Amino acid sequence: MAGSVTVVAGPSGVGKGTLIRRVLASDTDLWLSVSATTRAPRPGEVDGVDYVFLSAEDFDNLREAGGFLEWAEFAGNCYGTPAAPVTDRISRGVDVILEIDLQGVRQVRANLPAARTVFISPPSIDALGSRLASRGTEDPAAIERRLAAAQDELAAAGEFDCVIVNDDVEVAANQLLAWVHKPANEH
Ligand code: 5GP
Repeated sequence: MAGSVTVVAGPSGVGKGTLIRRVLASDTDLWLSVSATTRAPRPGEVDGVDYVFLSAEDFDNLREAGGFLEWAEFAGNCYGTPAAPVTDRISRGVDVILEIDLQGVRQVRANLPAARTVFISPPSIDALGSRLASRGTEDPAAIERRLAAAQDELAAAGEFDCVIVNDDVEVAANQLLAWVHKPANEH
């Protein structure tokens, strides 16, 4: 039987990474797709693990060759999901998770109608603001920009098969895992 594809999206700071790490730790048979990007690696990021880091030219060549399941430009850099590793895993029955932005979700929905789309929502915009502030990685202006973007993303939540409110991390991670394992005819 083919593996499932679960696409996870949601605003910056909502805790998608934490939830996905929990889900991967509790089910080691799942596979998280490694995206390609033209963005420079951040300190500590490992090529092939966090992202496949490509030059703009290599990214364009791969895109023109039809090598991406989806791709998008975000904040001046390109990001894409290499198609072959995903289709190879699905055909071997492995369940796959993609963590991508809203533009990418729309393409996956068109290219892979069986994919399940999950939106991770903050309990409230205020909670998201506090989270971004306590993370300490953004200055107040950047937090404002991210919160404005979050409003747009929240407005798109209705497009998704499922919305998970990340209030209690353990509850939310269990909901995500249940969705990944849901039989294909039930979503
Ligand atoms: P960052 O630069 O912070 O790692 O990622 C920026 C944004 O790009 C995040 O919203 C992330 O979900 C999104 N992103 C990462 N990989 C992909 C991808 O393969 N495709 C798309 N469409 N978005 C991606």
